[in-house]
Amino acid sequence: LSDKLDKALHVLKGHGSITEVNVAETLKEVRRALIDADVNFKIAKDFTNRVKEKALGQNVLTTLQPGQLMVKIVKDELTELMGGDASGVNLSGNPSVILMSGLQGSGKTTFSGKLANFLKTKKTKKPLLVACDVYRPAAIDQLHVVGDAIKVDVFSDRGNQDPVAIAEAGIAFAKANGHNVVIVDTAGRLAVDTEMMDEIANIHKAIQPQETLFVVDSMTGQDAVNTAKAFNDILNFDGVILTKLDGDTRGGAAISIKSVVDKPIKFIGTGEKMEAIDVFYPSRMADRILGMGDVVSLVERAQEQFDEEEARKLQKKIAKNQFGFDDFLKQIQQVKKMGNMKDLMGMIPGAGKMLKGVDIDDDAFKHIEAIIHSMTPAERTNPSVINSSRKKRIGKGSGTSVQQVNQLLKQFNQMSKMMKMMQGGGGRKMMQAMSR
Ligand code: GDP
Ligand code: MG
Repeated sequence: LSDKLDKALHVLKGHGSITEVNVAETLKEVRRALIDADVNFKIAKDFTNRVKEKALGQNVLTTLQPGQLMVKIVKDELTELMGGDASGVNLSGNPSVILMSGLQGSGKTTFSGKLANFLKTKKTKKPLLVACDVYRPAAIDQLHVVGDAIKVDVFSDRGNQDPVAIAEAGIAFAKANGHNVVIVDTAGRLAVDTEMMDEIANIHKAIQPQETLFVVDSMTGQDAVNTAKAFNDILNFDGVILTKLDGDTRGGAAISIKSVVDKPIKFIGTGEKMEAIDVFYPSRMADRILGMGDVVSLVERAQEQFDEEEARKLQKKIAKNQFGFDDFLKQIQQVKKMGNMKDLMGMIPGAGKMLKGVDIDDDAFKHIEAIIHSMTPAERTNPSVINSSRKKRIGKGSGTSVQQVNQLLKQFNQMSKMMKMMQGGGGRKMMQAMSR
């Protein structure tokens, strides 16, 4: 998914001109990428339609950095689609009872252990695990192994074939032994069948859990949606656990499930170990799906800092060939307002790696600013008057050398040339080049 979206969003990532035509093209690509990742066709279509509407509503094409604004809209919509803010599990009730549901192999037993461990360490609870998978003796053993590993008590009754009775006995055991959370692990089947559904419905009815969680393997793609719907119809569960996100992840499941059952995704599983559990954050998941590092926060910061009015004036000046060192100074100050150079660079995907071991001088602009400050207003507006005696004076005044002054003048000339070349509708491009 990431690769495809990456390609789709490439045009939009602030790289120059976007037109109505390539907005449409790009959204088509985004839609295709979502469908490829097992997002239901209708959901993907609704999604891109909403993005398009927002883009038109915000007049994306007339803004300074249309591409980046588009990326932001895509990301915001994706975040919203996966469900607002992170929500924890309901721990009211004493004990609070949490029921696990889901297909065989989805990761219920593993997640039961992870959740118990999480609640024990993060929320100082005293959980009890209850083994209601009565069909495979190995399943009971598995839960005991998990419980031993995290030092959490496990309730099981090997002679008993009635999961409802075991669940009830487990809760009674918890009450008698001071456990304030009971996690009921149940049996699954390889596919949805009525026997399994009846069984989990009966357990649910008998123990009335505060929290019913549906566990789903994120690798199962489109099937995950159907399964989620079937379980939700019976249980009206409270939240979804997305497991195995450490593998060849398909973020699509998260998007589809959320849209179809409209229940929050609460946790994700990212490995077989007991520590491999994370609270689900929609915006992080959106980042992961979009595979764009922290580009979004970079965009947000840039948007805050770039004064559009200022930019328009500048475009006019460029058009009239009146761009001088004063304007250059303003640009530097704009860039600096955005924050630490290294931080900024680090937010660009891929740049993080490149920058390892490279030392970026945070005062990269210090000399440049000093030199410009040492110029007279006339020199700033019309740098061509700067002869060698002026250069000497400027160097001295700014505490730099004539070479450094020369270097800056050379850079400035190159830039001016570039600007001339770009004249005629190139203003925006120029601004983008400079903001980078
Ligand atoms: P259950 O049948 O629903 O109880 O599923 P299990 O908890 O027994 O898990 C089935 C398999 O998936 C086991 O081999 C687990 O180790 C593995 N598993 C569970 N959760 C994760 C996860 O988040 N990441 C990975 N890589 N494997 C997991
Ligand atoms: Mg199990």
